[in-house]
Amino acid sequence: MSKKYLIVGGVAGGASAAARLRRLGEEDEIVMFERGPNVSFSNCCLPYHLSGQIKNAQDLVLMDPEKFRGQYNIDARVNSEVLSIDRASKEIEVKNLVSGETYKESYDKLILSPGANAIVPPIPGIEKANIFIVKNVVDINKLNTFIKKENPTRITVIGGGFIGIEVMENLIEAGHNVSLVEALPQVLNQFDDDMVQILHKEIMDNGVELVVGDKVTAFDTDKVVLESGKEITSEVIVMSIGIRPETTLAEQSGLELGKTGAIKVDSNFLTNDPDIYAVGDAIEVYNILTQDNFKLALAGPALKQARSVADHIHGKAVHNTGYIGSSVVKVFDFNAAATGLNEKMLANLNIEYDWVEIIPKDKVGIMPDAEELGFKLIFEKPTGRVLGAQAIGRGNVDKRVDVIATAIKFGATVENLRDLELCYAPPFGTGKDAINFSGYVASNLLHGSFKQVSMSEVRELVEKDAYILDVREMDEYEAGHITDAKIIPLSQLRDRYDEIPRDIPVYIHCRSGQRSYNAVLTLQAKGYTQVFNISGGFKGVCCYEYFNDKTKGRQPIVTAYDLK
Ligand code: FAD
Repeated sequence: MSKKYLIVGGVAGGASAAARLRRLGEEDEIVMFERGPNVSFSNCCLPYHLSGQIKNAQDLVLMDPEKFRGQYNIDARVNSEVLSIDRASKEIEVKNLVSGETYKESYDKLILSPGANAIVPPIPGIEKANIFIVKNVVDINKLNTFIKKENPTRITVIGGGFIGIEVMENLIEAGHNVSLVEALPQVLNQFDDDMVQILHKEIMDNGVELVVGDKVTAFDTDKVVLESGKEITSEVIVMSIGIRPETTLAEQSGLELGKTGAIKVDSNFLTNDPDIYAVGDAIEVYNILTQDNFKLALAGPALKQARSVADHIHGKAVHNTGYIGSSVVKVFDFNAAATGLNEKMLANLNIEYDWVEIIPKDKVGIMPDAEELGFKLIFEKPTGRVLGAQAIGRGNVDKRVDVIATAIKFGATVENLRDLELCYAPPFGTGKDAINFSGYVASNLLHGSFKQVSMSEVRELVEKDAYILDVREMDEYEAGHITDAKIIPLSQLRDRYDEIPRDIPVYIHCRSGQRSYNAVLTLQAKGYTQVFNISGGFKGVCCYEYFNDKTKGRQPIVTAYDLK
């Protein structure tokens, strides 16, 4: 017997559920309600309209109601807001936002995919400013049209998450003056502070006025006022400080919310009503690493959850293995990807962990387009279970992080990473890929072969007059070095190790941490017990220090930066 399925929300999760439901049941009635004027548009591509990379805003709309009807026999109703759910009678109330008419529709199963709303807090003076959000095609059209008409002298993006970053980049590409304000000390919170500094530099180098660790306290006409007292003259403000799950309908109808404030679902994405499912940005999901629920507002999970719901409705087994969170973003010439847990997340968890930071080449070094790849791997101690990874570079970072994401999902350890057989030819990678390499270093660390300190600890070491040993060659040292670092090139170390004290800690570095690792092993073999590798080496220290040196006016700890 045919069934009637209603779907609230017609974009990522909603449209995906509708299409899968049709594939599984030709005779069923499927109605999808969308509050806005468009269904099935690409939220993720919205910022690229600002630069003209996607010229025509209509290209952002992937399917329209006519196509849904013609190709899938799905009734997609735009400008149709679902006002309430009557769970007892299994009916929803819908308002046609064009005619104002309201009506009821009954359902056998209801799927909620209402997404999330951009947070726009009532900051004093907000009514005087030209505030925009970027959530749908209407929003991006409004912003783009306003900018084109008014030709503002400066646009301020508030919030340095991936939407804010993409909007910033596309506005710069369109030729505008842009400020980016982030309340936290860094943009893109999925990266640790040691990894993200290179992106701060890239943003600054591309002409953006980047302000981190400062938040908006007031707006005025053409002005943003920050907590520090700084004022930015700006005629257009894009708010991208975060999103809040759209839970109005769920709350009104007594569906349970989880502790994060998002809709609570079971492993089949069923709410506490056996006939109502929920997916996407509106729900909370189970994190297999923290063993706790969290919000994961990304397109991939929404699409797959929607498919699972349709499968579950049709009695197909759904195997929900939980989530870890994987994302990638482009920041001008750099690509940045992250998966799983980072150190900031781990600070609040009772998980013992360690990390490695390496800067290998992403292709064979002599290939003309080989680029350095900053790669951080985080793993559990003492099991070696992989917990997370971050990669930033001009080349292919998502491939590396995708492999780690897969490894995490299959419960891999750092030893497993060493042995992974990954594709290799010079234009694509190296015979020992960054992933294998991180597995070697992590295994060595795990088995106590050497000790390390982070590049973020070097300033304190310099200030404490610690013994820092540079093992690069003389010409590299002369081009720039850590203040007061001693120099004994690795090629001379075996003849000159007696110059190095045995009774105090010795912190060793080269350019990226690889030669210094060899130096650490040599000294350990000579009986030294307090030798530490400075992970990331001189290059890592320079990348870590540069942005804060420039913006805080502090004394550099290097004689010249190596930022090539
Ligand atoms: P949505 O796709 O937002 O759809 C929800 C829809 O429900 C909305 O259109 C809303 O109008 C409608 N609705 C809500 N309430 C009602 C109601 N009562 N009645 C009728 N309709 C209703 N994710 C990535 O993984 N990678 C990216 O690169 C990426 N880039 C992004 C860039 C931008 C600018 C934005 C805004 C998002 C981006 N995302 C990205 C996130 C991704 O788009 C979302 O995670 C995904 O769209 C969530 O799907 P959803 O179905 O839960 O919600």
